Amino acid sequence: MPTLTSSCIRGDTLLREIRGIGPARVRAFAEAGLVTVLDLLRHVPTRWEDRREVVPVSAVTAGSAFTFRGRLSEVRRIRTRRRGFSLVRAVLSDSSGSIPIVWFNQPYLFQQLRDGEEYLLHGAVRETSPHGLELLNPTCEAVERALHSARIAPVYASVGSGKGSLGPAILRRLFDTVLADFDPATIPEPLPEELLVRRSLPLLGEALVALHRPEGDENIAALNERRSPAHRRLAYEELLRMQVTVALLRARETAAARTLVYRVDDRLRRVVRDLLPFRPTAAQKRVLGEIVADLRGPHPMLRLLQGDVGSGKTLVAALALAVALESGFQGAFMAPTELLAEQHFRSLERLLGKRYRVGLFVGAKGGRSDPRLRERLAAGEIQLAVGTHALIQEGVVFRRLGLAVVDEQHRFGVRQRALLRGKGDQEEQPDLLVMTATPIPRTLALTAWGDLEVSTLDELPPGRSPVATTVVPAGKRRAVYKKVREELEAGGRVYVVVPLIDESARTAAASLAEAEERVRAELADWPCAVLHGRLPAAERDRVMKAFACGEVKVLLATTVIEVGVDVSEASCMVIESAERFGLAQLHQLRGRVGRGARPSCCFALHGRLSEDGKRRLEVFARTNDGFEIAEEDLKIRGPGDVLGTRQAGLPGFRWARLPDDWELLEQARDDARELLGRLGEEALEGLRKTADAEKAGWGQ
Ligand code: ADP
Ligand code: MG
Repeated sequence: MPTLTSSCIRGDTLLREIRGIGPARVRAFAEAGLVTVLDLLRHVPTRWEDRREVVPVSAVTAGSAFTFRGRLSEVRRIRTRRRGFSLVRAVLSDSSGSIPIVWFNQPYLFQQLRDGEEYLLHGAVRETSPHGLELLNPTCEAVERALHSARIAPVYASVGSGKGSLGPAILRRLFDTVLADFDPATIPEPLPEELLVRRSLPLLGEALVALHRPEGDENIAALNERRSPAHRRLAYEELLRMQVTVALLRARETAAARTLVYRVDDRLRRVVRDLLPFRPTAAQKRVLGEIVADLRGPHPMLRLLQGDVGSGKTLVAALALAVALESGFQGAFMAPTELLAEQHFRSLERLLGKRYRVGLFVGAKGGRSDPRLRERLAAGEIQLAVGTHALIQEGVVFRRLGLAVVDEQHRFGVRQRALLRGKGDQEEQPDLLVMTATPIPRTLALTAWGDLEVSTLDELPPGRSPVATTVVPAGKRRAVYKKVREELEAGGRVYVVVPLIDESARTAAASLAEAEERVRAELADWPCAVLHGRLPAAERDRVMKAFACGEVKVLLATTVIEVGVDVSEASCMVIESAERFGLAQLHQLRGRVGRGARPSCCFALHGRLSEDGKRRLEVFARTNDGFEIAEEDLKIRGPGDVLGTRQAGLPGFRWARLPDDWELLEQARDDARELLGRLGEEALEGLRKTADAEKAGWGQ
């Protein structure tokens, strides 16, 4: 085995060159992807123990961990009958007194520990009657070799698993060997130093060493909460790399110069005013202003419009589309489900139909109802195409697509977005507005959609009152349905939502039928209809219309009504088995009521609750604010789940923690944009590629 004799260990030194790392360990490290010293240093401790203060043995109390310095005596092995179970005992003495020690299942200590020698020990003290106190499983180092006792000691996760794995104690010793001769300056610094200076962050080499060997005066709480300067540095690097990727993507998408020229003049303003069915809210006006500014800007628009349920996104989209149509371009409006596409078609017809020709494109071939529809779109005769994914299928051709609107972005991948954009002329990039009713916490807007500008509708149309929400155990269903009957008698309309546990056709139908029976038993005299995703489109349409016009008073539905369904007379919702829904989904569902002037209510019936379930329903009842709900959702579930991670292009992080590292993320974004502007694309290529990035899926 080649052994390094020179006194300096470098970042690129191979682990196999280091004394104490034999072929077996080299293999274990290699299996975990650790080959060089730098790799090893990136295996940072998971926590840190405070061993700075040496305590006299007479001063200890049961229940806490302490560091001691003293001599061992009576080191002995205790024979037990139980197989696979061993005991080593000893006594620790210092000038203040002595205390017995016990180690479970560490028989090798019997060979290692010597009577009469001085050691530094760290471990918990427990009470043992009738013997009083004893020291349990302490770590133990001879004083002349002690590196970790009497200071902040790192605790490592094992490398590898099973027989050949390297445990915390071995790792700690190896790190001592490595760090004793290590020169941090041999680790190349990947980030521009000026950024580190600007953000007051340590160099990579310094940061890594600080984690393995904290200074004696280091803030141990900060280390354990992963907010030490070294942790911040690693998180910043990760976020910066991600934001560089995002900035590069964005630069490419917006590099195209604007080719579509919109006419924004007094005539257009008059047209828009005439189209308005009601006075827009201040937020709607502001957001429309932001969109129009984009449409007149030098590059194609790429904007995310986020607004809570009921905030009136459709109107904003319709007016933006009018700007495009009025300038002679076509528009596209894409929704995630047929039900929604149909509904949007109706409301866009209502808003824009008197002036423009609107077509509905749903079904496999896009334009199921009318085969000539596609021809009319290609000829430019149809000015606005509303539809589902059918719109991005191959046979669908526009004559000149100007503005594409995508509703409920979280159901579309980035790829679909690109396909839709590709519907424009070869050289022409259509403007793109994506809308989401799942208010995206600002943190996520920046990570998942860091490449979009964000507009926010932060105001509801006037006259809305929050939906009074009550969480009720299923045992009290009777009382809830009594309230529902009162609501119906007072002229209201009611949704009853049931979760479908299994989406397969037969069980879905069965669980719906069962729910229907229950609902009909409770609300016998009221006209009730059932709505679910497997109904034929025409039937679904009929049911929705019957509910909208009041012929049907109770709509029993699955989550097909989750997004966008808009019947303003509906004033009451019962959600069955509410614990089965996510927080954001509950909020979306509830958004179906409280859309008119009538005070509305929502009852969340639930079965047995998990801890998370309890928290979700508590937040749900407490607030109607979609942004607050989204932030809470993020806390409960973590960013990965909120949007369906990979599909939404949301990266996973090793170091950064969101939303806690929000400020750091903002700094990284600003820095990435500034670097790109100053150094250009090529100079930044190197910054975005790392192994971590590739794993997380944002490094391509
Ligand atoms: P969402 O943002 O959830 O898509 P919608 O666009 O469906 O919201 O609008 C919700 C309801 O509010 C609709 O019935 C719509 O007609 C109504 N609405 C939108 N804007 C206004 C406004 N400025 N004043 C009054 N009602 C409005
Ligand atoms: Mg909507």
